[in-house]
Formats: sequence, C-alpha cells, structure tokens
Amino acid sequence: MSDDKEERWVTETLYKSEGFTCAFRVDRVLHEERTAEQHLVIFDNALFGRMMTLDGITQVTARDEFIYHEMMTHVPILAHGRARHVLIIGGGDGGILREVLRHKDIGKVTMVEIDPAVTEFAKAHMPQVSAGAFDDPRLELIFADGAKFVEQTGDSYDVVIVDSTDPIGPGEVLFREEFYRAIKARLTPGGVLVTQNGVPFMQGAELTSTIGKFRRLFRVATCYMATIPTYVGGPMAMGWGTDDASLAALTVEELTKRFAAAGFATRYYTPDTHKAAFALPRYVLDLVENA
Ligand code: SAM
Repeated sequence: MSDDKEERWVTETLYKSEGFTCAFRVDRVLHEERTAEQHLVIFDNALFGRMMTLDGITQVTARDEFIYHEMMTHVPILAHGRARHVLIIGGGDGGILREVLRHKDIGKVTMVEIDPAVTEFAKAHMPQVSAGAFDDPRLELIFADGAKFVEQTGDSYDVVIVDSTDPIGPGEVLFREEFYRAIKARLTPGGVLVTQNGVPFMQGAELTSTIGKFRRLFRVATCYMATIPTYVGGPMAMGWGTDDASLAALTVEELTKRFAAAGFATRYYTPDTHKAAFALPRYVLDLVENA
C-alpha cells in the first residue's frame, strides 16, 4: 500500500504488478498495525464508509459488505437445506459469521481465523459487520492457520465457507489442493465447500486453478457470482464444490420456500439471485471448463 502524502490516499495493491490500481481517500485512520501476519489498516472513506485493508488489499467496507457476506452464506446453506454445523475459515471481520448465525437451525459454527488482531480491531472499529455475532453461544472461535486446522480436526461439517484473503501471504495455503482435500474429508454426505475465488476478469487463472483442484475432489466443481463494487474488475467468483449435484438444480420455488422458512430479510440475496448467480457468462464458463 502506498500513500499520497497530501491527503493520504491508499492504493489497492492486488493488481499493481499488472499495472492497475485504484485509490481510496483516507478521511480518518482508526487503527493501523503490522500484525504477526499482515499489514492491517481500518480507516474511513467518504464513499464506502469504514474499510479494512490487509496488505493493501480491500477486505471489507461498511457500504458493500452485505453483498459478499449474504451470497457466501445463504447460497450454500439454503441449497444444502439441513445444515447444522458450519465451518468458516478466515472471516476475521465477522461478516460471514453474522449471516451464518441468522439460520436458527444451525447449532454450531466453528470459525478458524489466523490473525486475532483482525477480529479484535474489527470488533472495536467495525462492530456493525459482526453485529454481536462473536457473542453467540453457538460459536467456537479458534485462532489458528485454517490449513493446519482442517488437517488436524476430527469434526465434520455440512457447509465449509473459506472467507480468505487472496492467495498471497497467509492466505496462500488456503488455495492448495491438499487444503481442499482435507476439507472434503471433513464434509458430511452432501456437504458443500464454497470459497472466495477473486474476480475472474482480473484473476482468471486463480479460478481455473481452484476449479481444476475441485474437479479432482468433487462430482460438482463450478462457481457462482456476485458483484461487489470494492472488489474491482467485475463480478466475483465464489467456488462451489460438492458431491450432491441436486443442490445447484434446486428450483426458485424450492429456494423460496426455504428462504421464507428461514425467516429473515436480506439486502442482496433473493431466491432468484441465488439461481441466477450460477448462470455464468461465456468467459467465466471458459475458465471453469478449461480447468
Ligand atoms: N471478504 C474478503 C475477501 O473477499 O478478500 C476476505 C475478508 S477476511 C478479512 C479474510 C481473512 O482471512 C482475514 O481475517 C485473514 O486474517 C484470514 N486468513 C488469511 N490466511 C488465513 C489462514 N491461513 N488461516 C485462517 N485465516 C486466514
């Protein structure tokens, strides 16, 4: 992350080596530190509200986080239909946790985050993201490397959500085949793995790589999409791996019944957007089919 000294702009570093960046004006810094794992900054921006970057890469903003957190959770949980134990890898800001816990049938959520500082300072400075989720008695919060955790745990999960950073720094191990294989071994029959898999228009090779690994592990290996404005470059891919082919074939009518039974309102997710998210444009289909 580099700063323009006059006003202090921070620039998105994810695509800098490819010659692209964008900048966010820093109106107020709430917290900045180099943790044991990464460079954490929480700051206010007039357009996107309170934001967090890790190693200069935008992680979460108050204004658009609902899109990503709703689509990474309600799609796999409502498709599965009878999830009782969910595993979150990463997700330190608590947004995924907040949305998972809205499903009252879920009895336990295990969350494995490598950097306690992310959770500590997100709770302190971005409390609306977790919205009290860290106090829910169903939560088992573990501070550890998610790759090591899935190798060691004996537990099983109906849905696993990998809300990781990008495949650089501590997040790199969360894109390896052995990580996905260890998760597969921990999924209950019909279980689902979803992954944060970047913006295909910018990070197409990452999606092809993940889907290729999923294809060696699951009967169904694809992705679904949603557009999060601050994950720049177009719609984002969420990796989808499961042995249950019926889950992606659920009708809007069935999803509508399940969503109504869940009994909560959303700002992005609807049964129609759920179904439509799996309708991939040609250039993304090419990335998936060439995996
Ligand atoms: N929504 C964001 C995105 O799409 O890029 C991700 C947000 S969340 C802040 C990413 C989290 O992954 C961070 O809290 C980071 O500390 C965590 N993380 C990175 N590598 C990890 C690992 N190996 N094990 C567990 N958590 C990890």
